[in-house]
Amino acid sequence: MTKPNSDRIIVVGAGPAGLMAARELARAGRKVTILEARDRCGGRIDPLPATEFGYPAEGGAEFIHGEAPVTRSLLSEAGLKTLPLQGSSWTIEDGQFAPREQNAYEAELHQALSGLKEDRPLAEFLQAHFSDPKYAQLRRSVERMVEGYDAADPKRISVMALREEWMDGGRANQGRLVGGYGGLIAYLAKDCRDHGVDIHFGAIVKAIEIVDGKIVVRCADGTSHPCARTVLTVPIALLGDITLPPAARARADAVNDIGFGNVIKILLRFRNQWWREKKADDLTFVISSEAIPVWWTQYPNPQAVLTGWFGGPKTAQMDHLGERELIDVGLDSLAKIFRLGRQQLADQMINGRAINWAHDPFARGAYSYATPATRAAQARLREPGDGTIFFAGEALYSGPDMGTVEAALDNGLATARMILGR
Ligand SMILES: Cc1cc2nc3c(=O)[nH]c(=O)nc-3n(C[C@H](O)[C@H](O)[C@H](O)COP(=O)(O)OP(=O)(O)OC[C@H]3O[C@@H](n4cnc5c(N)ncnc54)[C@H](O)[C@@H]3O)c2cc1C
Repeated sequence: MTKPNSDRIIVVGAGPAGLMAARELARAGRKVTILEARDRCGGRIDPLPATEFGYPAEGGAEFIHGEAPVTRSLLSEAGLKTLPLQGSSWTIEDGQFAPREQNAYEAELHQALSGLKEDRPLAEFLQAHFSDPKYAQLRRSVERMVEGYDAADPKRISVMALREEWMDGGRANQGRLVGGYGGLIAYLAKDCRDHGVDIHFGAIVKAIEIVDGKIVVRCADGTSHPCARTVLTVPIALLGDITLPPAARARADAVNDIGFGNVIKILLRFRNQWWREKKADDLTFVISSEAIPVWWTQYPNPQAVLTGWFGGPKTAQMDHLGERELIDVGLDSLAKIFRLGRQQLADQMINGRAINWAHDPFARGAYSYATPATRAAQARLREPGDGTIFFAGEALYSGPDMGTVEAALDNGLATARMILGR
């Protein structure tokens, strides 16, 4: 079946980038359809039903990082509030809780970063400047940070991008949305619909073709959607699955120079906040060397939920584990960190979820990071070509907040403005 509407703009994906682009285009009077593979909006913003954890716990994005100007402006427009991150952070050293590590060689690291003249992967930079055994702990903590926080491979991630993240104000000033990121998505989706945007769920885009000089977007269910232009916001790991005209394919292949990492997120709901007695009333983060190395609480919110986080290339070692097994690994890690009986913890647990984002068919990973070749790749992807097929999404954003919701919103907006000639 081929539908009419050949002056339409079709946005592929109803994540933050797609919704933001669609809204901007529709507000400027364009006819817009969003084709979304899932049965919901939000993409890698994935609030879980409140019945599972007592609040809409975040299976995907959870924090607001840094200034995030587009996000914050949207929040104020939507009347949504944020709560800054508070509380204490700890690392586990030799089995003991220690205040979050401040490395003795941190000043040297900053000095070496400041002196950088050309880009290279982090691993090469550490080898060149910090190979002496006395820096072993520094190297370990930097690599742990990059794997965990940026979900990145130290052998690929750009040291200049890290310099920007760590030294230019970067991602200080973190917070959460009161009520979660779901409120932001609901607001954007409603505003899209109020401006006439059609959102189709279950629409898995398989191909974009040019037929008689017109763009046709083809879905897995056999439907075809002619349009004047299309904006593809699918995660970069999925771009290779969509058949594209040769010129657009040549641009799309630049994604190989953009890093894309994975995260396993484990949420465990307990009968009470037992960690307050075990460690501290205001406990927020604990970082260890256990299999699931990072854990956080919802402090100062009262929910008895601990969230475990494992990011970067080593997540592949858990590729064979199902959800129940990942929850078990999470419980093992917590038992070791807090020196509690494994069974005692399991008895305390009311509910658990584990999401390996590499297994999500419409994400195939968590988020992007910059390699030394990424800025050029992004510029190639952002080229308008003949003005009919555009690429957008968090991975195409070239500011300091790569891999975030802010990156997706900013790039969705910028792409719509490019189409509108603004
Ligand atoms: C576990 C995790 C934790 C995160 N934590 C944070 C955080 O704390 N703070 C933060 O700012 N960011 C965080 N992020 C990153 C953030 O979620 C993403 O950067 C952002 O959601 C990307 O938005 P997007 O619109 O570019 O892509 P997406 O949100 O992925 O949207 C793309 C959409 O395209 C759809 N799609 C895919 N294939 C097709 C197809 N063939 N046809 C039609 N539709 C398709 C997808 O279903 C999806 O809805 C996190 C991500 C993950 C996975």
